[in-house]
Amino acid sequence: MHLYEQQKIQIYNTLSGTKETFNPIEEGYVGMYVCGPTVYSNVHLGNVRTFMSFDMVFRYLKHLGYKVRYVRNITDAGHLENDADAGEDKITKKARLEQIEPMEVVQRYTVDFHNILNTFNFLPPSIEPTATGHIIEQIELIKKIIDNGFAYVVNGSVYFDVHKFNETNDYGILSKRKLEDLIHNTRALDGQSDKKNPQDFALWKRAEPQHIMRWPSPWSDGFPGWHLECTAMSTKYLGDNFDIHGGGMDLKFPHHECEIAQSEAAKGQAPVNYWMHANMLHLNGQRMSKSTGNTVNPGELLSGDNNFFSKAYAPSVIRFFNAQSSYRSVLDLTDDGLLASEKGFFRLMDAINLLDDLKADANSTFDVSQWRQSCYDAMNDDFNSPILIAHLFEAAKLVNQIKSGDASLTSDDLELLKKTMREFTFDVLGLVNITKADTGTDKLSGAVELLIQLRQDARVNKDFALSDKIRDELAAKGIQLNDGKDGTTFTTN
Ligand code: AMP
Ligand code: ZN
Repeated sequence: MHLYEQQKIQIYNTLSGTKETFNPIEEGYVGMYVCGPTVYSNVHLGNVRTFMSFDMVFRYLKHLGYKVRYVRNITDAGHLENDADAGEDKITKKARLEQIEPMEVVQRYTVDFHNILNTFNFLPPSIEPTATGHIIEQIELIKKIIDNGFAYVVNGSVYFDVHKFNETNDYGILSKRKLEDLIHNTRALDGQSDKKNPQDFALWKRAEPQHIMRWPSPWSDGFPGWHLECTAMSTKYLGDNFDIHGGGMDLKFPHHECEIAQSEAAKGQAPVNYWMHANMLHLNGQRMSKSTGNTVNPGELLSGDNNFFSKAYAPSVIRFFNAQSSYRSVLDLTDDGLLASEKGFFRLMDAINLLDDLKADANSTFDVSQWRQSCYDAMNDDFNSPILIAHLFEAAKLVNQIKSGDASLTSDDLELLKKTMREFTFDVLGLVNITKADTGTDKLSGAVELLIQLRQDARVNKDFALSDKIRDELAAKGIQLNDGKDGTTFTTN
């Protein structure tokens, strides 16, 4: 008996706007595709949050015993500026500015992406295909869409005919938009465009002479449209109809809407049964985004070398912070939030580190089996990790009570508690057991600690002029020293 036969997951499906019981196409097997990064710059923490949420989904599905084929692509061509159909390819632009080969750009940022994911203890996907490695598949798809009458060729470029498609299908089915409203809200074409209608999108673009990334095709030397690559790669590895497709909320329209249209136009069927969208990470109340520059890179948060946060945070603390809110909620990254998560994280680790010291008793004062099921219930409810964490805290409290003799468990219950706490904390949430000593401090904290020590020495030597000078000068720089009964701590503003 597999766990997945007992534990039925409810997934919030963007397509229906409701939670649905998850039934994979093939019992015991799950095909999942998640849109990967466009590798033209370092990933920011917002990107990491989305991938982290799907890493947790992947981990939980595996934990339940499903055989999961998880495909997450690398976008290394075709993604134009502003997610639009005109303008420069993001990678080409970077290559031009830095005077390097586009593939050097791709290599640099793919390596950076992998390093970051390793730091955060991600499981690697089963397949990580690249857009440039699937040009032939994309050309074949375009041919089918043209043959089926849903695309047209103009000046060597190929466009998807949204209006034609909408006559027989529903363009807007995912994002709940109506073509009439889209028409109403878009500016008319300026006569420069090859498109019949502004809503049409490029499947293939003819390359201008200066465009470096180009491939031969029946229509022109050019490059594929961004939406097309995901249709080509997802259906190649998961089939024309597969279980789960995920990505950030911002990809719902037009990217995922176009994926559905392309699949239906080429293959006559909807590609995906469950569409999952992860919500956005904000930084100080504003969405984190490369284009506005409101970003923190993971490295800056991990080293403490940034203008936003008072200290460095360990990768597992950031993972914990992320899991403390639902993947479908907006999450605001703040220093207070991270500090609170850090406390909670170590409270949980301290309890886990006590598990092997606990002694069994003749009786149990706590229903471990019921508690274990409530952990599953939380995750079965659309991967509700904050509720799971609340249950893990309940267990942490129990561990402390057993330690102090205020609660007891039989040896079977104790074993079940240990196994369940470890499985959910490490296997499902992907946290790593570190102690406070492993987190280290950033350079600034180290320097302030040194000044606190020097001030303490000055006080012992009754050099109050010096001790006050240290306190006042730090305060003038926004660092407050707080004298308490356990010594001096500091806060920044
Ligand atoms: P990109 O490299 O821009 O194609 O984005 C990679 C992934 O990160 C996509 O799934 C985006 O939806 C996601 N993403 C971008 N910005 C954020 C954000 N602020 N919070 C969460 N996810 C984001
Ligand atoms: Zn995609």
